[in-house]
Amino acid sequence: MPIYQFKNTYIISTDGDDLIIIDQHAAHERILYDRLSGKSSPEPSQPLLMPETIGLDQKESAILNENIDYLKELGFDLEGFGSNTYILRSVPHLAVKTNIKQMILDIVSELQNAGKTVQLETKQENLRKLIACHSAIKAGDKLTIDEINQLIKDLYSTTNPTTCPHGRPTMIRLAESEFIKRFGR
Ligand SMILES: [Zn+2]
Repeated sequence: MPIYQFKNTYIISTDGDDLIIIDQHAAHERILYDRLSGKSSPEPSQPLLMPETIGLDQKESAILNENIDYLKELGFDLEGFGSNTYILRSVPHLAVKTNIKQMILDIVSELQNAGKTVQLETKQENLRKLIACHSAIKAGDKLTIDEINQLIKDLYSTTNPTTCPHGRPTMIRLAESEFIKRFGR
């Protein structure tokens, strides 16, 4: 049961007898990462009202091209248009509210940093983390009570509700016994 959104960043809630403090960004990251990783029902693709044109240099273009099939699987409809230019027509539905162009540029630089040494599986995992991070609710975003309820419900139905895909905690749990001890009751 959510009680309060603190500094538009943390959700104060309860879980049984415990008080929990949820980091809304980390929690949403976990939810979106799990959705992108779901094998059975891939995230639907959403056409953009205005397709984005993305200009890259030769190296960036080559690396994007190498990974374009996996990006298609994730819901990005990217098409080469002349030399080193791409048209982006669709994005994963969950990413529709983000700064799309910046996300693509960050994806390209992530792929460049990974280079050839990183295993394919790890590389793809890192892309899903990046997309989840870009698309997640930010610290400072005001949420409605319905959005908070949905966030908590979705978080609890993920594979690992207590950590974000980067391994940081999504929540701090305070048992009632902790209060009893500290208040000296
Ligand atoms: Zn994270």
